[in-house]
Amino acid sequence: MAKKFRHISIHRFSLFLALPILTLFGLVFWFVFRDLESIRTLAYATGRKYLPRILAKQQLLINIENLRRSISLVYYSGDRLAARNAGITAQALIVESVFGESAEFSAVMERLKPDFRRLLELQTQLCDAEGRLLDQEIALSGALGRLALRSGILPERIHAHWACLSPDSRSPQNRAQTYADMENALAPLIGFCADAAGTGNADLLADCRGFQESLHEVGQSQRFLIDVDAESKLLWEQIDSRLRELSDYASTSEAAQIVHSMNHIEEETSRIQRLFLAAGVMLLLALAGTIILIHRHILRPLAMTSRALDSIRSGRRVSPLPQARTLELQNILDILPALTVYMEELNARSGRLERERDQYADLSLRDALTGIGNRRALETVLASDMPGTPLGLLMLDLDLFKSYNDIFGHQQGDIALKAVAGAMKNAMLRSSDMAFRYGGEEFTALLLNADRAAALTVARRVMDSVRSLGLPHPSSPTGIITVSIGVACRMPGEKLSIQELLTLADQALYRSKKSGRNTITMSNGEPEEKD
Ligand code: GH3
Ligand code: MG
Ligand code: MG
Repeated sequence: MAKKFRHISIHRFSLFLALPILTLFGLVFWFVFRDLESIRTLAYATGRKYLPRILAKQQLLINIENLRRSISLVYYSGDRLAARNAGITAQALIVESVFGESAEFSAVMERLKPDFRRLLELQTQLCDAEGRLLDQEIALSGALGRLALRSGILPERIHAHWACLSPDSRSPQNRAQTYADMENALAPLIGFCADAAGTGNADLLADCRGFQESLHEVGQSQRFLIDVDAESKLLWEQIDSRLRELSDYASTSEAAQIVHSMNHIEEETSRIQRLFLAAGVMLLLALAGTIILIHRHILRPLAMTSRALDSIRSGRRVSPLPQARTLELQNILDILPALTVYMEELNARSGRLERERDQYADLSLRDALTGIGNRRALETVLASDMPGTPLGLLMLDLDLFKSYNDIFGHQQGDIALKAVAGAMKNAMLRSSDMAFRYGGEEFTALLLNADRAAALTVARRVMDSVRSLGLPHPSSPTGIITVSIGVACRMPGEKLSIQELLTLADQALYRSKKSGRNTITMSNGEPEEKD
């Protein structure tokens, strides 16, 4: 049992093939368009929004850095003039509202102002205190010198003190250590003065008191400086950390947006890449599937139909064909077996017709009585004649045949005509020689490529053949049926038509009759003696 197909029209089949590919194209187009739009929006936002802001923030960062450097100069520089100039610059940066664009920045700056002012104050106090300390240290050095002379303490102790007061050790950070080192270095003198109280030496005691007072003053100044340093350091650290935060804030917000945008663009781009790859693979698969379906359901049935039609045309049997999916092709395949039968019938019928036609054609050219070619057959040959080719032509007439009919009757006359035609054919030996019944009791023979001698030879053979029939003819001088023959020939290259040859042969025949019948006469020749 053959599998039952649900046939569909070829248009629906094409739609069925095209639909998945079109859908795939549509989806890919939509997704790619959407992702590209997203990339475009991101690129626009980055270029128009974040980058200008980043450039603006860049200037802000420079200003923050300048401010930080100026304040750090105020804090760190030991040079009073440089610190003063840096303070002025920093104050200008704060006051001139260069950070006014952002509310956060302005707020930070407002909080920064009192701290900075306090730092400036402290630095001024520090400078003043250091000036005082210098005076006090000079006084202490004098007191030390006097006491050293009086006490005989080794000068290297004094040098150690001076070493403690060397410029390297005067940095604010090391101030506490410097003071401790100085106390250590002066410890023998301090001990000496403590012991001197019991001596009662008024000068020594006065020098010791001077030394102790100077040392006390230096100590006080040092402690003051340590306190101011500590507060300055604290303030500087606060200001510095705020400025760093501000700097971080300025540099991170828009940059983060840009990084985010770039990440997004990268993701979208790689998604489009993956989409294209997947779409390409799916399209290839869809195309391959379409080609297979077209081949299976359209091309193969078409090829089979073509082969089947070829077989039908050449009369071969068509083997059973598988079913096609499309309605139109199935209709064609369904018609093929019927077409085979029609073609077989048609072939058989046309074969019969051809045979009949050949038969009729043959009959129409054949003389019904004698079976040799008739007048029409002769005319057909005349039509295909090639002038200039050598040809022999015999015109033959039965002698005194009227009286033969009169004596034996027409029926017997017909038998005699048949016999004469047979004798004539027997006498013509070449297959190219042709015999025709010209009409009544007259016959013609066409001898292709025959010269005069050959034609005459054939004429004689025909005459002898008829004679040898020995058909009795009481009215004939010979007592049997004889024939008279006229012969005409066309030599090679001679421009005579068969019609003209017929006339010439007829004239020769007439002369044969004239010369007493039972005679052969060549045109342009004398009648031959009869035996
Ligand atoms: P001649 O020798 O001069 O030719 O004498 P002839 O009697 O043959 O002369 P003619 O040509 O006048 O006569 C021809 C005769 O041939 C007349 C006719 O009776 C006879 N004939 C013609 N056709 C046929 C035919 O088909 N059958 C029969 N039986 N006789 C025919
Ligand atoms: Mg005649
Ligand atoms: Mg005759």
